[in-house]
Amino acid sequence: MNIILLGPPGAGKGTQSAGLVERHGMRQLSTGDMLRAAVKAGTPVGLRAKEVMERGELVSDEIVSDLIDAELAAMAPETGAIFDGYPRTVAQAEALDAILAKHGRKLDHVIELAVDEDALVARITGRFSCANCGALYHDTAHPPATPGVCDVCGGTEFKRRPDDNEETVRMRMQEYRAKTAPILPFYEARGIVSRVDGMGSIEAVAQAIDAILRG
Ligand code: ADP
Ligand code: ADP
Ligand code: ZN
Repeated sequence: MNIILLGPPGAGKGTQSAGLVERHGMRQLSTGDMLRAAVKAGTPVGLRAKEVMERGELVSDEIVSDLIDAELAAMAPETGAIFDGYPRTVAQAEALDAILAKHGRKLDHVIELAVDEDALVARITGRFSCANCGALYHDTAHPPATPGVCDVCGGTEFKRRPDDNEETVRMRMQEYRAKTAPILPFYEARGIVSRVDGMGSIEAVAQAIDAILRG
């Protein structure tokens, strides 16, 4: 099974990917996470991406498609893939078709997380994650059960993304509307798009996604 989770920044793609990994043993392929790792490691890709990401603009199609290609090459063919934050342009969607074909995979579902734009700024400015394991939290909507202690690994250090501020979020939303939303018709023509109400609770969204995967 190969699926795309599509939605604007803060829609819940990362949160739902983590749930799918846990429930179904799928693998999350997040270009955002890969790029942040490259920035941290100071690789040539990271050096090129850093400022673009800080502005909330999109990095080049070629960089992200190469990252995805390399990850799929290293995956067992039977492991399902969740594409999180990729593709983000029609050119990336076309590249993904070629990459999937090369690795003998096909796209089963494109799941659109539909959210109310007003809620996104609050979601993003309240987002933080465990510095040790990366588990995602929210100040009010999804805090750790014991304040200051990660539910998943017991870690006590947390971090916030430098691009999770209101100004950058507005730019990211604009990029989504202009460049990413147009990939929906590309996939709708194939009849593989499902829409989920992303404004429900994390559990309700997870159930709606599982219902789609069951067919
Ligand atoms: P994305 O990967 O689409 O940018 P995230 O999964 O990181 O979004 O979620 C953004 C923030 O919103 C996180 O702090 C997360 O804990 C919170 N969140 C995710 N899903 C929901 C939900 N259904 N209801 C409320 N808050 C949510
Ligand atoms: P969010 O969780 O808020 O949707 P991501 O973590 O997916 O954000 O992406 C963070 C930043 O990384 C983006 O604002 C963009 O600069 C860059 N990025 C991530 N994925 C892509 C992609 N597929 N194409 C271009 N840029 C990307
Ligand atoms: Zn943790």
